[in-house]
Amino acid sequence: MVIDFHAHIYPEKIAAKAAASISGFYAIPVSKAGTVECLLECGRRDGIGRFVVFSAAAVPGQVQSINNYIAETAAVHGEFTGFGTLHRDMQNPGAEIRRITDLGLKGIKLHPDMQRFNIDDEKMMDIYALLEGRLPVIFHTGDYRYPYSHPARLARVLDQFPRLVAVAAHFGGWSLFDLALEYLRDRFCYFDVSSSIPFLGASRAEELIHIYGAERFLFGSDYPMWDPGSCLREFMGLNLSDGEQELILWKNAMRLLDGG
Ligand SMILES: [Zn+2]
Repeated sequence: MVIDFHAHIYPEKIAAKAAASISGFYAIPVSKAGTVECLLECGRRDGIGRFVVFSAAAVPGQVQSINNYIAETAAVHGEFTGFGTLHRDMQNPGAEIRRITDLGLKGIKLHPDMQRFNIDDEKMMDIYALLEGRLPVIFHTGDYRYPYSHPARLARVLDQFPRLVAVAAHFGGWSLFDLALEYLRDRFCYFDVSSSIPFLGASRAEELIHIYGAERFLFGSDYPMWDPGSCLREFMGLNLSDGEQELILWKNAMRLLDGG
């Protein structure tokens, strides 16, 4: 069994534009179209049975419609587990968190760099207080060009909310992998392997998985940035034990989705 814990999806009519905008943001060509059909096709082709899917609201006005879209899509595709979005400047996040739960979404995805808020912004702290003990949160973490998603900020959040189930994507800090180690090694959070192995190199990726512990890692592709099947082959190319592979490919994800 394989669970891809990090996939972005977009409605058909805006997928091309959304994929182009991510490509521009990271100055990396995206591999895939960003549509649901394309992702399902990748899953069928490469034996990835389940995807955690989400999309980020750039402005507060998009929050509800994105959450509706993710919930409707997850409801018709058994392969998908939907995560909702929130925005720092939205009105009444508590009501939307209740709605997210009622819609059957299983967690929250936040992208501080694209949504332009500091992870430890005071308004966000109020939101984490509502999420702690209720829903897991996957954070995009790390970007040397911006201050928003720095692992030190996530460390502050984790200290303040010790029961928050958090995933620090991209080994805890894309392009800041060593700083992530400094700030997150001894704190309670998960990591995902998405968009990282090509930048780290296989031996450093293996080393970091062993330092943090395989029980803290989740497989993820960051679709549509990368093709999930290629990510799976890249991950399987790491020198890890069968037990470690199983934890990262699905066991940790199941435990997390089950409540921590
Ligand atoms: Zn992401």
